[in-house]
Amino acid sequence: MLTRPALVSKRCLTRLLSTRASNILTSLGLPTSGEISGVYDGQWKGSGDVMHSVCPTTGETLARVRSASPAELEEAIARTREAYMYFRNVPAPRRGEILRQIREGLAQKARWLFVLNDDRDDLGALITLEMGKIRTEGVGEVQEFVDICDYAVGLSRMMNGRIVASERPGHSIYEVPNPLGVVAVLSAFNFPVAVYGWNLALSLAAGNATLWKPSPTTPLCAIAVTKIVSSILERNGMPGAVASLIIGGKKTGEAIVESKDVELVSFTGSEHVGRIVGQTVASRFGKVILELGGNNASIVMPDADLSLALPSVFFGAVGTAGQRCTSTRRLYLHRSIAPEFLERLQKLYRSIKPGDPLIDGTLLGPLHTHAAIETYSKAVDYLQNSGAEILTGGSQYTEAPFDAGNFVQPTIAIPKSPNTKDYIWQTETFAPILNVAIFDHLEEAIGWNNGVPQGLSSSLWTRDLKNLGKWIGPAGSDAGIVNVNVGTSGAEIGAAFGGNKSTGWGRESGGDSWKQYVRWSACTVNFSDEAPLAQGVNFTATD
Ligand code: NAD
Repeated sequence: MLTRPALVSKRCLTRLLSTRASNILTSLGLPTSGEISGVYDGQWKGSGDVMHSVCPTTGETLARVRSASPAELEEAIARTREAYMYFRNVPAPRRGEILRQIREGLAQKARWLFVLNDDRDDLGALITLEMGKIRTEGVGEVQEFVDICDYAVGLSRMMNGRIVASERPGHSIYEVPNPLGVVAVLSAFNFPVAVYGWNLALSLAAGNATLWKPSPTTPLCAIAVTKIVSSILERNGMPGAVASLIIGGKKTGEAIVESKDVELVSFTGSEHVGRIVGQTVASRFGKVILELGGNNASIVMPDADLSLALPSVFFGAVGTAGQRCTSTRRLYLHRSIAPEFLERLQKLYRSIKPGDPLIDGTLLGPLHTHAAIETYSKAVDYLQNSGAEILTGGSQYTEAPFDAGNFVQPTIAIPKSPNTKDYIWQTETFAPILNVAIFDHLEEAIGWNNGVPQGLSSSLWTRDLKNLGKWIGPAGSDAGIVNVNVGTSGAEIGAAFGGNKSTGWGRESGGDSWKQYVRWSACTVNFSDEAPLAQGVNFTATD
């Protein structure tokens, strides 16, 4: 059961936390009263504006966090740069060993809790408390951080360059990766831990120092993670500012993006902000990784195994209350299976009940902020006014206790037209709204899949090899993630993760992503007694 918060006013100066929240904060060593420092650069500090962490389930104020003042931000960037100067000389396998300990720090907590605390992973629980996703997904995020640490430990012994054959006798060419510098990680609210984990692991293995500016609405997750990471850095005699933290809002983000002392900005967030970030970093010739909005489609063919497709589409559209970048937002059904598919999908939707995401068995938690309800309602209004058929959902949960949180009904709609130029198909609405259209030929559905600005995730449900070939080939899906009989939502760390087009073309996590976190040099070395020019150019002076 949801309990009404003991204290909901954001303006109250003293904090009386509910037991629900207090237990989680205490287990992670976070203060349950007073203001919390939101800046770490080797020292904890913070004298800027106060940011409120608000529980999306109950409306309770979880914490008041002091963000960075402009001077503190400047100092943190300087400290992070100093830390980089030191850390770049630490041998890569030693950096890997530190990552292994960070991995243990994250996983050990889970093991310890398994024995003493009823199998609870309190970092996962904190994600649930502060962000609003259900418990199993919160724990899954921590697991993703553990997984990428494992990956980066191995990588720390394999970040190899190459020897290239030279056309000149007595010459060798080496392609050499070196540490890059300061990597700023600007992250979104919906993955308040894992996205940082992806970046931290690769960046540390590569010999960089990171400066993390998380979403201002999930400061507690960032502080809890930084406490674990910094304790391990310090235990190993490393400067804490190898992994600095800055809690702050838009202005702080802008100052970091503009700073020439930041070599790489890894930005995860909306297309709107990503466009500004991309242009700003490009204007100072910095490096940028953009991981922006998704508008992901699932296509179900007549030969698909519906017993696999249905639960996957259900999870893709409703999981995380539709707040994953990879959430399924568009569903294209072949005419021959559409009636059955929609009937069975609606049955699944009818089984959904909102609940406290901390309680096992809850499938639907809240939207993260109150403002997100407006985004949801605006999209529903648009659908209704433009003649769409709303099959299920379309409203907020207004009865107690859900009225204290941001609960909305997962919605299935059939827009009047499948025309992808329409606003409803073009836009990522970050809420559980699934728009459906019916097709006759795979080519038509692939055209719709590709007809939107975004290009993150896509999925085809089929048993036919010919369909598969079309889907993953040159005339197939133009997204960065192109799945077959796997939903759009959720990815493993081993492959490079990211999207094309207005999703930003960024790649993080596995694959070759690490290559972006290093500075590449081509080194031609002459060990002969001649100095020939390339391409046989003759530049001999005659007198
Ligand atoms: P957002 O764009 O509002 O904020 C993201 C980050 O940018 C925050 O840390 C914010 O404080 C900061 N910021 C805001 N204005 C800024 C500015 N002018 N300059 C620099 N930084 C600024 O995004 P959000 O609402 O937190 O997250 C949801 C969005 O993130 C969705 O669009 C979702 O699809 C996307 N997302 C994408 C991926 C991916 O991998 N492609 C993953 C997660 C989330």
